[in-house]
Amino acid sequence: MTSPNRSHRLAHTMDARHPRALFPAPAPADSRPTIGVLALQGDVREHCLALEAAGARPVVVRRAADLGSTPGDRLDGLVIPGGESTTMSTLLTSFAMLEPLRTLIGAGLPAYGSCAGMIMLADRVEGAQEGQAFLGGIDMTVRRNAFGRQIDSYEEDLIAPALGAGRDQPLHAVFIRAPWVEEVGQGVEILATTRAGRAAGVRGVDGGRIVAVRQGALLATSFHPEVGGDHRVHDVFVSMVTRRV
Ligand code: GLN
Repeated sequence: MTSPNRSHRLAHTMDARHPRALFPAPAPADSRPTIGVLALQGDVREHCLALEAAGARPVVVRRAADLGSTPGDRLDGLVIPGGESTTMSTLLTSFAMLEPLRTLIGAGLPAYGSCAGMIMLADRVEGAQEGQAFLGGIDMTVRRNAFGRQIDSYEEDLIAPALGAGRDQPLHAVFIRAPWVEEVGQGVEILATTRAGRAAGVRGVDGGRIVAVRQGALLATSFHPEVGGDHRVHDVFVSMVTRRV
């Protein structure tokens, strides 16, 4: 009988005294970068699928031990999904992950934060809860719940060439109780803005709002690109990670 999986068959039939048993064929090397998805809350599965589609090997990160001690030790990059940044701060503190994460990011671990993840990566936050802890890293001021309290969700087709979204293929962006970026420092690249005046229902908006930025190895978006299975933002992040691996 032939097995469709030859190595599987060998593993079960090989005599332990056979020399090949001492030197089994090495598993094919996985050249994909390993990217963790912080799994305290949010769209963990969707981020994993988008990372896989973008050519990375996603792994779920739940505890400090999953982080490794230096960039490249266990993770080549990390995604911080959306959720609630106050809850995320509390969970990161109680799982003793806040300091290890700050250290890794400070040491250059590439990280991508979406929505609450963007808030976590901001150096300055408006509308933060008293005592709320952040990771920081991007020289920007982010305003929590900026799209307005009564407008829980907002959608716009963004034209953002830096995210692979030209005029012919805009990026459908879903904002859920999302922040926007009020201002950025000099080293921060603006990757996407909403169209001037389009942030529905937001009074006083006379220009486009900054909703995607990059600084060094850090990427952040106000919106949730994982909703709907678009992986262009993940493509950008995976190539940022690959350049560093
Ligand atoms: N409003 C949330 C916060 O402040 C973020 C919302 C989201 O991640 N979808 O943390």
